[in-house]
Amino acid sequence: MFGLGKKLFKEHKGSAMIMVSIAMVSLIGFGSLVLDIGNLFLTRNRLNNALDASVLAACQELPDSTTSAGEVVKEYFANHGFDVGALTNYHISEDKKKVTATGQVTVQYFLARVLGIESATVKCTAAAQIMPLTAARGVVPLGIQDQELLYDVKYTLKVASNSNTAEFLGPGNFGVLVLDSTGADSFEDSLTYGYDGVIKVGDTLNTESGNKSGAARDGVNYRVAQCTHACTPSNHDPSCPRIIILPVYETVDVQNNKVFSVKIVGFAAFLMDIPGDKMVGNECYVDGYFINMVVEGEGEEDAKDYGAYAVKLIV
Ligand SMILES: [Zn+2]
Repeated sequence: MFGLGKKLFKEHKGSAMIMVSIAMVSLIGFGSLVLDIGNLFLTRNRLNNALDASVLAACQELPDSTTSAGEVVKEYFANHGFDVGALTNYHISEDKKKVTATGQVTVQYFLARVLGIESATVKCTAAAQIMPLTAARGVVPLGIQDQELLYDVKYTLKVASNSNTAEFLGPGNFGVLVLDSTGADSFEDSLTYGYDGVIKVGDTLNTESGNKSGAARDGVNYRVAQCTHACTPSNHDPSCPRIIILPVYETVDVQNNKVFSVKIVGFAAFLMDIPGDKMVGNECYVDGYFINMVVEGEGEEDAKDYGAYAVKLIV
């Protein structure tokens, strides 16, 4: 009787231990889920962020240089704390408008090893694309007629003597567009700092007559003085204030050869020329060289391409 009770007790104790063991395995299993899966997601996020940043930065080099775009992918990936060897593939599309990058890392498990699972592989792909700019802030109150823009040609964007030509919007006009409000102060503000509102393809802008020589001179001098990078059309700092974004337009309201309003069909970027002796008295021209440029703003793949682009993640 007594012996049987002891045996029963032992058996109970035994099954309790089995229960505890099962509970322990379950706990470790559950713990491994929380810890190891959490770690897996964290790594996946980090890898995704690193790849996103890499392809976005690389797009800033397009469409001019696929070589430097490739270098930028590797540099940004490494700067995000990953071994460059984990960048298993990157590719720049033939039209030089898209960068794709794939990364792969092995994540070692901690607790899941108890269950016999040593590690997992995390693999992510990111892609970004440049698209013709369709809406932007910081545009200057000048413009250029719809045309094929050429490299290494100096374009005059605002004249200083009334040329009466259609190129500068006809009699009484000098090439000035109204972005904010009319008047020399508003023109100078937008020329100097870029208009702080958003201008879009399809918008209609009024022209404004008058030379506005003082305002033009101040705006140009302000921007030119800040170029400490010795920028040239083929090699310029992307943050240089000499780079201006302006609307490409079609004329819509023309009376007696004078253009009263224009419709925006796209955007182009120019590197403002250093004016030298073109800034004496009323002689305030704004000249610039056409460049390709990726800027902040919105873009559309099918929009007309005038060399100014927005960048977007597409994967
Ligand atoms: Zn510069």
